[in-house]
Formats: sequence, C-alpha cells, structure tokens
Amino acid sequence: MSKKERATVHFLNARASHMNESLVVKMMAVANAAGIEDIIDPGDIVGIKLHMGEWNNTAYIRPVYVRQLVDRVKELGAKPFVTDCTCLPYMPYASRTNALDYRLTAERNGFTSAALGAPVIIADGWLGNDDVRIDLPEGVILQEQYIGAAIAHCDALIVLTHFKGHPMGTFGGAIKNVGVGCASKRGKLNLHMSKHPLYGVAAGEYYPAMCKGKQCEKWKQCIDSCPVDALEITEDSIIWHKDRCIGCWDHIFASMCPTFLGMNLRDGLEAAGAAIADSALATIKAIGRDKMLFINLAIDVTPWCDCISWSDASIISDIGVFASRDIVAIDKCCLDMAKKAPGLLDSVAEVKGALEPGVAKFSSCGSLLAVSENIQINAGVFNGMGTHRYKLKRAKKIPDLRYNLKSKPIGPELKKAFKKQWLVPEDGFKRKEKIDLEPLRWPLEES
Ligand code: SF4
Repeated sequence: MSKKERATVHFLNARASHMNESLVVKMMAVANAAGIEDIIDPGDIVGIKLHMGEWNNTAYIRPVYVRQLVDRVKELGAKPFVTDCTCLPYMPYASRTNALDYRLTAERNGFTSAALGAPVIIADGWLGNDDVRIDLPEGVILQEQYIGAAIAHCDALIVLTHFKGHPMGTFGGAIKNVGVGCASKRGKLNLHMSKHPLYGVAAGEYYPAMCKGKQCEKWKQCIDSCPVDALEITEDSIIWHKDRCIGCWDHIFASMCPTFLGMNLRDGLEAAGAAIADSALATIKAIGRDKMLFINLAIDVTPWCDCISWSDASIISDIGVFASRDIVAIDKCCLDMAKKAPGLLDSVAEVKGALEPGVAKFSSCGSLLAVSENIQINAGVFNGMGTHRYKLKRAKKIPDLRYNLKSKPIGPELKKAFKKQWLVPEDGFKRKEKIDLEPLRWPLEES
C-alpha cells in the first residue's frame, strides 16, 4: 500500500431493532466484508486472539461472539483455537500470570471449549517463556520481540478486540490486543521497558521519606507484591533495590502510594506505547499480513482495560463493530469515533472534564498520566505496520438467517410438541376477571 492509499474499515453501528441486527450478526457482516474468507485456507490452524478478562472484570467480550467466529472458521474448513498469553503481575492479586490460573479465570468467565466449540490454548505456555523471537530492525524502540509460540506458529489469526481505555497505552484496541496480548511474558517484560535505563519503571525516582515503613497498614501487601525481592521494608521507610527490579509494575498498583506515584513515569509510558506498536508488528511478521483479520467491538467502552479485576462505567455509549485488514487504520477509526462522541454523565468522563464531543477521550480517561492517545497509532505508522489513513465503509447487513439457530419459523415444530404435551389447563388459568390498573401506574407515596 502506498503512503497515500487509504485502508478500508468496515463498520456497523451498535443499534438494533431486529434479530439480523444483533451485534453477533453485525460482527459477522463486517468480518465477511473485510474478507475473513481470504485469510483462511482449508486445513489452516486458525487462532482467535482475545482477552478473556481478569477475575471479576465484567466488561470483557462475551463468549457468544467467539463461538460465532469459531463456527465460521470451521465452516471454511479450518481448525480454530482460542488464545491469549499469560500476563505480568501488574497487580498483587493478578489471576492470569500462569497458564493454570488463566484457564481457571477463563472458564469462570465462560470461555470453556464446550461454550466456544474450540479449545483455549495459552500461547506462551506454563509461565510465559514458550515463545518465538522476532527481529525488529524497523522498530521505533524495540529491536526484537518474543511472541507466544502457539500464536507465532498458527496459519492465520483473527484478532477479536474489545475497544476501550488502557492505563499504559491510553486505549486498548487491536494494536494493544496483538502488541501486548500476543507477546509472551518475556515479551511483555520487554515492551513494559523492563530494566530500560531511561524508560524502565526502576529508572524513576521514588520518595522513601513518604513511606511509613511497618507503620503503614499496607506494608505487607506492598512487599509481597514483588516477585524478585526488590523491596525491603524498615521500621519507618522502604528501600527499593532497583538492580533487582524487573519492572513488572506490581508494587506500583499494589501500593498506589505517593512513595512511588511521585515518579516521573510519563516518558516511560510514552515509550511503552510505542513499544506496544512494535510488538504488534512482531506478530504480524511472524504470521503474515495476508493471514490476519482485525475485528474491534467498540462496546462497553470502559476507561481501563480488561486486565483489572473490576470494570468502571462506560465513558461513551456503545459505538458498534469494525473490521479491517489494517491494524492501525481500525484503531485510528475507533479512536476518531470515540473522540467525536459525547462523554457519559456519572462516568469518569464527567470527573475528568471529557464530556464534550471532540475531547480526546482516552488521554483524559484512560491514561495514568494524560499521555497522548496518538502514540500507538503514530508508532504503528513509523514502523511500517499500517496506515492512519482510512475510508469508513458501512457493511451490508446480513439479510438472511445464516447466523440463527433456527432456519424456519418455530410454529410447526411447537405444533407437533404441543400435540404431545399441552400447556394451557383445560379450564383455563385461574385469574381475576378484572382488576383496577390505575393504582399500579403511579409511584407510591414514601412512608
Ligand atoms: S520492585 Fe520491580 S519487580 Fe518488584 S514489584 Fe516493583 S516493579 Fe515489580
């Protein structure tokens, strides 16, 4: 694609008043329009990459969307599996840091092979080092990256993304789903700037004078969050052994304490935003551009991602479903539409003064430090991964019953069943003949 060419982003909005306007059906309409058939050959092993949600997160993508994609992949003669990689701790009670915990979390969230029609495979293995190293000379910051082996070796990848905010990347779209989600735990350390002398978390200052040591009620949790004994508590303060720190971010979120939150993390967050885009490029290089399809569901647009154990109220109304063959274009399109949308009252958009259409929603509501929401997009253009120029194309709605359980009206089937087992009592149901509906219509007086 030349620099002036525009990538196509297929779109349908979130409104529905008919069964053919279900978001599941609309998702298939945009996926078909973007060429799902073109990326899959019969016999291919096809990964469906998604985030299956942290324990007690409630905004992650519902399994029904995944099931429909699984069925479609099978229809095309290929073999699907559902996949994600293990994560860094990020938080003290993280529930996806090894394959065992992730499978338990995924099953609790509804992602079982019975529900999905395909197995769930944690792509980077037990602890996160079953991976493939990819050279990245074109990277904005990363010069290499590590991708979960099961993802790097699949024949085609459908990237199904919940589009929302993200504390580090400001927004979490397709670039983040691939960049962070397809990176093994080793790769996640790399993109989170582990041990980077300038941008790593341990490069920042901290303020031990702010720490009350063992007088603080959270001191044990703070210390226990660290997997490498880099924190030492004293009676009245804390020592951070930065030489041991691998930059997993856990203790920062564990304490949420001025001792650490005073650090200047801004450059580090911006560098990590660029690294997310580089990391996504590594996966695209491993699998091949022509074997990848990106689907974004811009619904339940929460300020933060599905990696945390809660979900805040949406900051904007549901936008709709998008599909594209260009990972940068699809995210840019979603970002633009989110920016144009009014923020929702009683959400963090109101708290952060981001209610007006035209305000960058994710710099305001997603980012920890109001980092620019353009970074992933720009880095994805600079490293050659995709284009920010796009044309929005309204996909044709699916007029038939292809994605319905029933292909015929239910009447004849029930007629047969009712002949065997009638439901209405012979003398009719016992009910009052008439009641006064008027008192039911008005609010009751408070006592
Ligand atoms: S000190 Fe470093 S390794 Fe330990 S929890 Fe904090 S960020 Fe992670």
